[in-house]
Amino acid sequence: MTVMQKQHLLAYLGYYTGTMDGAFGPKSRAATEAFQRDYGLTPDGVFGPLTQARILEVIASGETPENTAQAADGPDWWDEIQYFKQDEKGIACPCGRCGGFPVEPAETLMRLADRVREAAGAPMCPSSTVRCQAHNDELSGSVKNSRHLSGKAMDFCIRGWGAARTLALVRQQPEVRYAYAIDDSYVHMDVN
Ligand SMILES: [Zn+2]
Ligand SMILES: [Zn+2]
Repeated sequence: MTVMQKQHLLAYLGYYTGTMDGAFGPKSRAATEAFQRDYGLTPDGVFGPLTQARILEVIASGETPENTAQAADGPDWWDEIQYFKQDEKGIACPCGRCGGFPVEPAETLMRLADRVREAAGAPMCPSSTVRCQAHNDELSGSVKNSRHLSGKAMDFCIRGWGAARTLALVRQQPEVRYAYAIDDSYVHMDVN
């Protein structure tokens, strides 16, 4: 398997967002490590035969990461979230068919969002958090195993900020598993 094929497989599952350049650099290594961590392999960042076999198996079966199978948290922690309400725009799945919350937004994600909002000192505008599978599938550019499906990802902007500045702030937060700029304003961030 070529490096470019590996990048395509990692990108397909949402782990790799770099360019398909055929060079196994830091982004490829980080993506490999994240995949390994999610699917029960030793997270060494080396895309060897075991990782290759596992990623093909995951793609063929559509199985989801092992660590998304935790029980949903009780609702009381919402009281400690300062800047967000569960029913505000951009938190529930907006498709109109799934009831909005096929899963609860993850506590770790909402606490993270709260802290980012606090640190930014400016209004944060979530555009997408929870998604049902049907809605995720109909969005262009979404990945099948998107963390939005498990309530562990948020797309948002900070009013008046560009994506690069927002991304820099997000990446300072230790809970962030992965973050990237969607366009000039919006950033995707997710947690484990
Ligand atoms: Zn939905
Ligand atoms: Zn996203």
